[in-house]
Amino acid sequence: MSLFETEALILRSYNLAEADKIVVCLSRSTGLIRGVAKNCRKLKNRFGASLEPFTLINLTYFEKENQELVSFSQTEILRSRFNLSSDAAVMTGFSYMGDLLMDFSPPRQANDNLYRMALACFEAGSQTPAHLDWILRYFEVWLLKLEGFLPDLRACANCQNPFDREEPIYLGTDLAVRCLNCSQARGRAIPRIVYQQMRATEKLSPAKFAEQAREVPVATRKELAQLTYQIISRVLDRMPRARPTFVQ
Ligand SMILES: [Zn+2]
Repeated sequence: MSLFETEALILRSYNLAEADKIVVCLSRSTGLIRGVAKNCRKLKNRFGASLEPFTLINLTYFEKENQELVSFSQTEILRSRFNLSSDAAVMTGFSYMGDLLMDFSPPRQANDNLYRMALACFEAGSQTPAHLDWILRYFEVWLLKLEGFLPDLRACANCQNPFDREEPIYLGTDLAVRCLNCSQARGRAIPRIVYQQMRATEKLSPAKFAEQAREVPVATRKELAQLTYQIISRVLDRMPRARPTFVQ
């Protein structure tokens, strides 16, 4: 049996037996882990409070060889989201990000960039809930990028000409982006303003991105949402959804 300590963001929890929970979290040093927290559902239990979704904690856990579930032994709250728990829109947005992290992160593979990006998005959403929609778009683009599914946005997949002109570009069903000439206008057109917002995510923090996007029309945000949705659903369709039975 080995003992580990890591910073972790709680994504979801499920009741187990009378007083226990199964908790899924994204940890800094081990990536996605699932564990059992014993006796955390007793009244006024600090251990239980630290395992509420989207809480940032320092986690100590035990691991037994060949067991998928670890055992959570100690936690310390670093950042609680308790003040937001009654805000349904924020909770829905956070659950959406949590679900995508569970869908895209292979179990027990640390990914520091993904962890820091996710943390920054949850933090930005906590600070400015009014900007949550843009923060979710930022999260989707970066998740796809860090997991290797975002098409190359710099140049045409066929002719390699950079997308630096005003002409429209197209997302193909193979998730590659091509210029007008190579695509023959087949696929989903990516309007210039949507393209510019996708590129803006590369240089900005989620908070700064959402701030600069305030002047961008709502229609553009919706178009970007449809585009990321199309890519995500296509990727998830072809990814094995190897979720353990208790999640289904
Ligand atoms: Zn081309």
